[in-house]
Amino acid sequence: MGKDILIVGAGLSGAVIGRELAEAGHSVRIVEARDHIAGNCHTERCPETGVMVHVYGPHIFHTDDTGVWDYVNAHMRFLPYKNRVKAQSGGRVFSLPINLLTINQFFGQTLRPAEARAFIEAQADTTIEDPQTFEEQALRFVGPALYEAFFKGYTQKQWGCHPRELPAAILKRLPVRFNYDDDYFAHRHQGMPEGGYTEMVASILDHPGIEVALNTPYAPDMADDADHVFWSGPLDAYFGHDLGRLGYRTLDFERFTEQGDYQGCAVMNYCDAEVPFTRITEHKHFAPWETHEGSVMYREFSRACGPDDIPYYPIRQVEEKTLLRDYVTRAETLAGVTFVGRLGTYRYLDMDVTIREALDTARHFLRSRAGNKAM
Ligand code: UDP
Repeated sequence: MGKDILIVGAGLSGAVIGRELAEAGHSVRIVEARDHIAGNCHTERCPETGVMVHVYGPHIFHTDDTGVWDYVNAHMRFLPYKNRVKAQSGGRVFSLPINLLTINQFFGQTLRPAEARAFIEAQADTTIEDPQTFEEQALRFVGPALYEAFFKGYTQKQWGCHPRELPAAILKRLPVRFNYDDDYFAHRHQGMPEGGYTEMVASILDHPGIEVALNTPYAPDMADDADHVFWSGPLDAYFGHDLGRLGYRTLDFERFTEQGDYQGCAVMNYCDAEVPFTRITEHKHFAPWETHEGSVMYREFSRACGPDDIPYYPIRQVEEKTLLRDYVTRAETLAGVTFVGRLGTYRYLDMDVTIREALDTARHFLRSRAGNKAM
């Protein structure tokens, strides 16, 4: 029997859709341009130190979706992990996201929750009624001092533009807390896969109905024998970028190793504009249940994504929204191809949402096929 389903990309979307369809009896071929599965959540052990490295930058699994949590746990044991980020600003170290400790240390105060709320509200620009931009959102909810210290420089480095050119939604990802809770995420389930994400994705792909071809860039003739294609590559790349390129930020990592403990935590943000990198991640702290003498660190630099770079963050600025709409309109009129995942839909998706959407897409596809047969 030929491979009736072709999936482009062996990241989370491709693997989850492939597995659902294979379980339903389809024969699935997945082509992957890179030499590994798991896309940007790929992990591998550093041969020199034994540390599990998040090769494309840190990925922390967090979700309120119990169905997705059960799904990933069925493929890999998740061990408890809380993301507690530290941030340097003006030569001092603080706790992030902004919480009562950050506020008290930054302003040299000993405020209790209600006092801190009133203190911050007194600094906030309450004339901004409906914040539209990142800057307005920051000025409205944390005021100018905390905005300048923690968000302005970091955001300029991360996105390559002024925070007033970015949507408020980017900052809405981060909470401001008037208590001492320093968990970066406020989700019910949070953890790290014991054996890394690549092993988890390998388990999802481990089905006799799935064949994975690595080092295999997509070519249009591959779709000739397929009944249906699921495309998890960049949306504009499917169309040969013929309307123009959707903008992404890419990341460069400067990797270095040392003995012992380099920074004492997994993530240290550098919020000052003068420091060229956004953060340093120390990967052994993402697996606190392991012990290693050596340590692997990444200095993370963000820049505009060129044609040969790996796309990370969709920028989605105003002019891109029109281009995106044109591509989406074209994508919707195509029969036989479904666009999925972060790159295929040009949205900044967390891993749990990616998996939820992949499960829903696969189930919808199976239902529509069953419906067609019944007719
Ligand atoms: N951000 C910041 N300073 C920080 C951390 C985050 O200004 O120390 C901003 C930055 O613009 C970032 C956004 O807040 O893109 C959302 O933060 P998050 O941690 O969700 O960033 P991501 O997961 O996109 O790296």
